[in-house]
Order: sequence, then C-alpha cells, then structure tokens
Amino acid sequence: MRIDIVTIFPSFFDSPLREGVIHRACERGVLDIRVHDLRAFTLDRHRVTDDAPYGGGAGMVMKPEPLFAALEQLKGENPGATTVLLSPQGRLWRQALVREYGTRPGMILVCGRYEGVDERVREALVDEEISIGDYVLTGGETAALVLVETVARQVPGVVGQPESVAQDSFFAGLLDHPHYTRPAEFRGRAVPEVLLSGDHAAIARWRRREALRQTLRKRPELLAAAELSADDLKLLEEIRGADDRGC
Ligand code: SAM
Repeated sequence: MRIDIVTIFPSFFDSPLREGVIHRACERGVLDIRVHDLRAFTLDRHRVTDDAPYGGGAGMVMKPEPLFAALEQLKGENPGATTVLLSPQGRLWRQALVREYGTRPGMILVCGRYEGVDERVREALVDEEISIGDYVLTGGETAALVLVETVARQVPGVVGQPESVAQDSFFAGLLDHPHYTRPAEFRGRAVPEVLLSGDHAAIARWRRREALRQTLRKRPELLAAAELSADDLKLLEEIRGADDRGC
C-alpha cells in the first residue's frame, strides 16, 4: 500500500516512521510511505502556504495553490488512492472504517494547520474528511499518524502474526482479553491457573469469556453490535450472574 502525507512539518514524521512494525514493513516493501513538504509545491520566493481569511477574523487559512499542485501530482502518482483531509468535522475514525481502508490501494493524507484549508481544496480534491475524535488538534499530523498506524495493521504482512490483529480490541466487536507474561506470581498476584495448564481449548474458552467480561464492564454498548454465538450469550449470562453475586 502506498501512503502519501502532505504536511508543512515533514520532520514531525521522522521518528514515528523510523520505528517498529511500520518501519520494518516499509523496509520490506509492504508499505510505501512518502512524506511531502507542502512548501516544495509553492511558487513564491518565501514558500508561503497560508494567508489571512476572507471576511476577517482570527487565524490563517492554508492557501489553495500549493495544495492543488501537491494533490494533482500525487493523485497521478498514487492512482486509486483515497484522498483524505484530516478534519475535526470529518467522519469518525472507527475500526469498521479502518478495516475498509485496509483493503484500499492507497491513501493521500492532507494535514491541515491553523484554521484549516481553503474550502475549494475540499470541494475539488478530497474524497473523504476524517476526524479521529470530537476534539480539536493543532494540526492534522497527529491524526495522520493514527490513520497510518491503524490502517497499516490491516495490511497483510505488516504485523508478523496476523492472529494478533484478529484478537485486538474492536476487531470482532469485543475488547481484547487480559494478557499475562512471566513470572507466574508477582507481588502476591498469580496468573490465572488455566493459562499455565497447556489445555488450548480451555485457554481459548477463558479468553473468550474474559473478552466478553471486559466488554461488558468497560464498553457494554459494544455488545449490541458484536457477533455473538449461543455459547457467548451463555457466557455473558454466567458473567452477569457472577457479577450480581459480587464474584
Ligand atoms: N477551525 C477548524 C475547525 O474548527 O473545524 C479546526 C482547525 S485545527 C486547529 C487545524 C487542523 O488540525 C485541521 O485542519 C485538521 O487537519 C487537524 N485536526 C484538528 N482536529 C482534528 C481531529 N479531531 N481529527 C482530525 N484532524 C484534526
């Protein structure tokens, strides 16, 4: 998958894209992530990317000319890519959407700053506005990184063990089960016995039960949309019963 990022702060991405699974996926050629300095698409001597808003008022607005130049070029280089404007006014970024983007051929991510980008950029060149949450960031760079990280996890070959993605929170509509590692006992707290048993069926059942329990306790509203088997519904009843008895 090719991902292009358009920003006035390209160095923002230096460290995050040089670490961990994303970096390794880029080295192996599974991901091709290119960060573009918007100033390189300006034509004036001072490489200006923003201007005062028509109508007056506080803040600056990102000028259309360099954004049009950048996006027209990148759409040609990354055909089929979805052009995304990071924006607090966009569609909320959730796991179902992450999975859908994971199947697309590429993304071009536009990072806004100041009061945002000239509206004509959105009208003419943006396929979708995406928000990572109902709050306002200073710039789109942090949000772009969230999109890169989450979509990259869906691309085959990025995460070494695909089953670890499938058991992540939200993937199947539930939160993940708790995890433990050595030592088996630490400061008087023991790892659940079943995890040491070597009984894979019992471990799988415990994990499913704990995923249901975490979801019921922390995000009960997710259960309404989750795909639950008859066995899951029975487990949920048991968990509710145990909770009512204060277990
Ligand atoms: N005036 C804009 C508004 O209220 O809709 C906010 C502009 S914000 C200070 C600057 C830039 O940060 C935006 O253009 C956008 O790219 C990015 N941004 C801010 N909050 C965001 C969010 N929740 N999700 C995605 N991008 C966001």
